[in-house]
Amino acid sequence: MTDGRINYDPHFKPVQNIYEDRLRQFTDTGGDYHDLNLTKFYDKQRISLDQNHVKVEWYQVPFEKGTSPVSPDKRPSWASIISQDKKGELNFQPAHKGQPFGPSWSTTWFKVHLSVPQEWVDTQIQLVFDFNCNNEGVVIDPDTLLPATAFSGGERREYLLPKQEDGSYFFYIETGNNGMFGCGAGSTINPPDDNRFFHLDSADIVLPDWEARSLYIDFWMLSDAARELPGETWQKHRARQLANDVMDMFDPEDRQSVVKCREYLKKEYFDKYTNDRAVYFQGDQNQLTNAYGIGNCHIDTAWLWPFAETKRKIVRSWASQCTIMEEYPEYQFVASQAQQFKWLLENHPKFFNDVLIPKVQEGQFIPIGGSWVENDTNVPNGESLARQFFFGQRFFLKYFGFKSDVFWLPDTFGYSSQVPQLCQLSGLNKFLTQKLSWNNINSFPHSTFNWAGIDGSVLLTHMPPGNTYTADSHFGDVLRTSRQNKSNEVYGSGLMLYGKGDGGGGPTREMMEKMRRIRSMSNKNGNVIPKLQVGTSVDEFYQDILNRTDNGEKLPTWEGELYFEFHRGTYTTQASTKYYMRKSEVIIHDLEWIATKASILYPDTYQYPAEQINDLWENILLCQFHDVLPGSCIEMVYKYEAVPMLERVVEKCSDLIKETVEFLSQSEKNSATTPIATLNWVQNDIPKEMSSEFNAKVEDIDGDFILSNGKLCVRINKKSGSITEIKDVQTETEYLDIKHGRNKIGANQFVLFDDKPLNWQAWDTELYSVNQYKYLQDIEKVHITRDSADECSVEVIVKVTNGCTLRSTISLKKTSFETQNRSKIDISTLVSNWDARNKFLKVEFPVNVRNETASYETQFGITRRPTVYNTSWDVAKFEVCHHKFADYSEYNKGVSILNDCKYGFSTHGNLMRLSLLRSSKAPDAHADMGTHQIKYAIYPHKGQLSSDTVKLAYEFNYDNRYNVPTTVIEPFKDIINITGDENVILSNIKRGEDDISLKSNYTLETKNEKSMIVRVYESLGGESRASLLTSLPLKSVTKIDNLELKSLEDCKFFSWKTKNHLSEIPITLRPFEVASFKLVFN
Ligand SMILES: [Zn+2]
Repeated sequence: MTDGRINYDPHFKPVQNIYEDRLRQFTDTGGDYHDLNLTKFYDKQRISLDQNHVKVEWYQVPFEKGTSPVSPDKRPSWASIISQDKKGELNFQPAHKGQPFGPSWSTTWFKVHLSVPQEWVDTQIQLVFDFNCNNEGVVIDPDTLLPATAFSGGERREYLLPKQEDGSYFFYIETGNNGMFGCGAGSTINPPDDNRFFHLDSADIVLPDWEARSLYIDFWMLSDAARELPGETWQKHRARQLANDVMDMFDPEDRQSVVKCREYLKKEYFDKYTNDRAVYFQGDQNQLTNAYGIGNCHIDTAWLWPFAETKRKIVRSWASQCTIMEEYPEYQFVASQAQQFKWLLENHPKFFNDVLIPKVQEGQFIPIGGSWVENDTNVPNGESLARQFFFGQRFFLKYFGFKSDVFWLPDTFGYSSQVPQLCQLSGLNKFLTQKLSWNNINSFPHSTFNWAGIDGSVLLTHMPPGNTYTADSHFGDVLRTSRQNKSNEVYGSGLMLYGKGDGGGGPTREMMEKMRRIRSMSNKNGNVIPKLQVGTSVDEFYQDILNRTDNGEKLPTWEGELYFEFHRGTYTTQASTKYYMRKSEVIIHDLEWIATKASILYPDTYQYPAEQINDLWENILLCQFHDVLPGSCIEMVYKYEAVPMLERVVEKCSDLIKETVEFLSQSEKNSATTPIATLNWVQNDIPKEMSSEFNAKVEDIDGDFILSNGKLCVRINKKSGSITEIKDVQTETEYLDIKHGRNKIGANQFVLFDDKPLNWQAWDTELYSVNQYKYLQDIEKVHITRDSADECSVEVIVKVTNGCTLRSTISLKKTSFETQNRSKIDISTLVSNWDARNKFLKVEFPVNVRNETASYETQFGITRRPTVYNTSWDVAKFEVCHHKFADYSEYNKGVSILNDCKYGFSTHGNLMRLSLLRSSKAPDAHADMGTHQIKYAIYPHKGQLSSDTVKLAYEFNYDNRYNVPTTVIEPFKDIINITGDENVILSNIKRGEDDISLKSNYTLETKNEKSMIVRVYESLGGESRASLLTSLPLKSVTKIDNLELKSLEDCKFFSWKTKNHLSEIPITLRPFEVASFKLVFN
């Protein structure tokens, strides 16, 4: 300070980086000065495990080595443990610090008796029990069996003890011996260490100094502002200076200085509401809210842990959230996945009904999402996607009384272009995701936009600009949500999804406190510090978008799939799960087809197995979770859960079909039987007289085997085993091209790519792998295995490694004058003992086709993708997802590749390539090892992609035949059929869910009706007309939504008395429209 005009005390300008670096000292729990800074005041007193004030006993649930880690005995119910303990049947022993518990995946129980010193109780200060084993635990009240809170180490280790006059407490803690992210050895995404032990690190009672802990949060947010605000803002520099002032003011010998520091900051940088929800009502109300905080805890339904553990993660995570809600009335938490609610209801009905439901009613705990699980959208078929919403929304309606408006899918590996339409049909008109921010080639250009699907259906979509759904509510998270918003021209606000996630967990008290401070700083210092709002629901946020964008009109549009430029290996990894998924989807289609028809024809004697079908669907849908079906889980999920579950689905479906067939035989006693297919256009395989000129034939000419059938001529080279020629002998058209391009060997040529992605082995296959490959040319044998007029086959045996061989059988069937244009080459490849390491097996087809795009079947339609590398967006699609077929056509001809269990594909230049097997080593060290049977077919065709490919691909997959009494064949067919444009596909039928006779567990509103739901779609992208036909007396026909709750349109129908009372329902479909019709019979 100057004294008059003379300077006796010169001041310096602080050096910014030194004054910034200094700030860390104040809250540093280690280092040279930890006992001279704020941390020394966090606890007034603490008593560690002494078996007197803190008495802890433990009990290890038996876990025999080598047994299934998911069997129910590994995770006994709370009630069973507690009642056994009350009877003295369990051997609880005194625990001590450092004590090991394990192994991985086992369960350890603790019994805790606390006796808090009376003088602590008398302070009326909120007491804490600090417990940590670095595994996952939950506190259970021994009388009510209700959970109180959960532990997982890190910031989640404190249980705020409820007030108790005498200071004595008794509760149990159940712990699962795995971390939040499983038990990965070395890295979380490595295969688990099955022999990990956890240690009791702390079991302390604490008398905290809440004022010092509050100053810690104040200081943390203030110093983050000093570090992270832009250099040109005065708020940044002032924050730094004030934080330094606080450090100067603080006296480690004087606890009162803590109070002074807080008061100083409240005056200078915060408003007075730093510890109050009222903070969110302060500040300039006209100022734009930059970030809306929404609590969530992403619980992967299985990933680095099994389903069995997820069931416990749910109750742990959600119980802690319900507790935090009591303390923070502004807090809103969203949770998705009907399956998780169902598990909670089954395992903890009292918590579900007495704690969770009231929180739902108060609007703090918000079920969201509308799907059964947060599912993969690449691989499940159309009907599966439809049922994700059908069961998800019906579950919500049944248990909460409302459905979700928002399809909540923050974390999945790409978004099919069919999602918007199915969402719209399921009462969901909004969408939330985040994963696209992981694209490793192009940056997706929008945060808020309209997403238009395959048929033009639009979803209002938001991608949280902070690029995470597990924000810690750091100052930086709020800042990023504000700064990285890509839609500022039209809508500048964004959601910040905060809360520990992936392994569950959710928001912490600390996050709630931090957010109050951030808002308080913004209230005081203006919008350079982003305005954060907590207490606004997701629905209100979306409504705000609509309000401020002219009902969404001003938003940009993204048309078609949201292709994820990452994790492209997930179309292929875990082949047997994908195989069983396809088989499950096919056979449940068949079951619903036959059960629907039987129940309509024999309403008094045949009971539609509604509940069993629904259970089977729940299992299928569960396995479509976004780590399970894509193949990114640990081994135990596939070995003990997903694959056995899907095998059982297939088995159970065929049992129920068998029962139905037996019922039909009993009802039609004197009838012979005929095998029938479940596709309406497939004739009943009754052999017809065929001209011999179309017989199959195999010849050995000039070192080649030649298969022919009067339509196609297929030349197989005896040395390479590859197909070198596929010719239409009638038109002289050659469909292969082995003169140009990189494959000059032939079709059905196997190729082994190097597959060493940068990271994320099970997930990723990387761009550079495309050019690192080896053709498999170690041919052991090429020989004729079948030579008959019906079918001829050549088998090629290829050595892959000393232990692994491929046996690929190439077959051509006889054809006829009527069917010759559908003639195709069937290939069945048995890969024995696949034992590769980081290799990717594919099979190639060099074709004589040139086009800029190829077509890939997706759910109820096709997606066209580039075959060129013009832009980085084209390059990114070097491996793409498809369903039953991929097609590459030019103006006059094309080639379709059909398959029975594969999903990865690529088409570039003249090369089509079907992805077969990967061999990633993490997180499952044995992924895909073993033997695989894979079927595919080459269908060369005249003209462009047509309904022939669509239908052949169906027939290739839906090839089951059921022996029913011949007398029911006509009545079966007469129940429902379709005529008209060939590209209109009748895909599925089922009974109306609310029919009284069904007694379905998903009935919402019982109706005294006999109804059938018929799903129809336009498969190729053009307005089309068709007619549904039925001979049963019709009462009404309506076009309905996917939930079978809303009538979209009353349909006209005409009945012809002359034609056996046939009724005709004319329908018109938009390009790629999916339509469901409800036929109510008299
Ligand atoms: Zn996830």
